[in-house]
Amino acid sequence: MLDIRIEKTKNPKPIPGPDNPLTFGTIFTDHMFIMNYQTGKGWFDPRIVEYQKIALEPSAMVFHYGQEMFEGLKAYKADDGRILLFRPDKNIERANNSNRRLCIPEIPEDLFLEAIKKLVKTDEAWIPTKPGTSLYIRPFVIATDEFLGVRPSDTYLFMIICSPVGAYYPEGLNPVKIWIEDDYVRAVKGGIGEAKTGGNYVASLAAQVKAHDEGYSQVLWLDGIERKYIEEVGAMNIFFKIDGTVVTPMLNGSILPGVTRNSCIELCKEWGLPVEERRISAEELFTAARQGRLDECWGSGTAAVISPVGHLRWMNEVIQIHDGGIGPISQKLYDTVTGIQLGRIEGPAGWSVEVK
Ligand SMILES: *Cc1c(COP(=O)(O)O)cnc(C)c1O
Repeated sequence: MLDIRIEKTKNPKPIPGPDNPLTFGTIFTDHMFIMNYQTGKGWFDPRIVEYQKIALEPSAMVFHYGQEMFEGLKAYKADDGRILLFRPDKNIERANNSNRRLCIPEIPEDLFLEAIKKLVKTDEAWIPTKPGTSLYIRPFVIATDEFLGVRPSDTYLFMIICSPVGAYYPEGLNPVKIWIEDDYVRAVKGGIGEAKTGGNYVASLAAQVKAHDEGYSQVLWLDGIERKYIEEVGAMNIFFKIDGTVVTPMLNGSILPGVTRNSCIELCKEWGLPVEERRISAEELFTAARQGRLDECWGSGTAAVISPVGHLRWMNEVIQIHDGGIGPISQKLYDTVTGIQLGRIEGPAGWSVEVK
């Protein structure tokens, strides 16, 4: 494995104190990881340096054709002082799946994990400790060839930046209102919906603006062909509890395979709940709700961990779920996943990875 060089900053920044609200994604730590790629040479010069601006020519391919991949995971400070990562192997595996779909060269898994660990260790003092806070880790790759023309780039930058983040819901778990979009679509099978890449997000903006204007916080996407089947929320996978069974859309090629989604499925199965990964239409869902058989709904994703859904709107019909409050499975999943992340609960083997 390549050696990671560490060049510490001579100008450390003030670390936010416990009273700082740590608005998501606004403050960045002292250091970043950066590594180059060139066809014929492979990945080279992995290094941790001061968090700084990067210079790119305006012709850099990423600006024009969107060849980029990103990931998101978190580091936590346990009560006993250990630094814990939550299932980083899953993010690394998914990053390379995204890379293959986007014609970006794969990143050696051991080097990827070592880069995350070394960077988090270097900026250890930035990991916040108040309840609900963590260090958000954002690895990403961009295409940097100076060229206007469509083909895979021959040069890339792989970077990792870190941001101390506050509790997603400062007042505790808070049900959200979700807009089911029946006009715009985000992804189709065979497209890039199962890759974690900026293109899926720019495709979502117009509907998100529309939903916000209507007083809804996020968009739930339907399948891009029939616009009938539930897919996922902007940056979260979605779960329902119908007639006592936990139901989530199956991975069909246009849904992002969330690490939190997988963790919810594993935990529910461990608790003896029936879990179904299958196609579910908006019509089936709303019929169940009208008949009082939809007990719970929640979203899953690294940022909020679990987001209970209190209201769903589809074609001018609004349903309220669990009286607009938090259901017991949502609460138990939130408590368990965050408990494992903080090292308070022993999770399944391999879910907690210590940074030493
Ligand atoms: C990142 C992401 C998710 C959530 O995945 P996690 O691994 O649970 O954070 C869900 N949907 C989309 C589109 C995403 O980009």
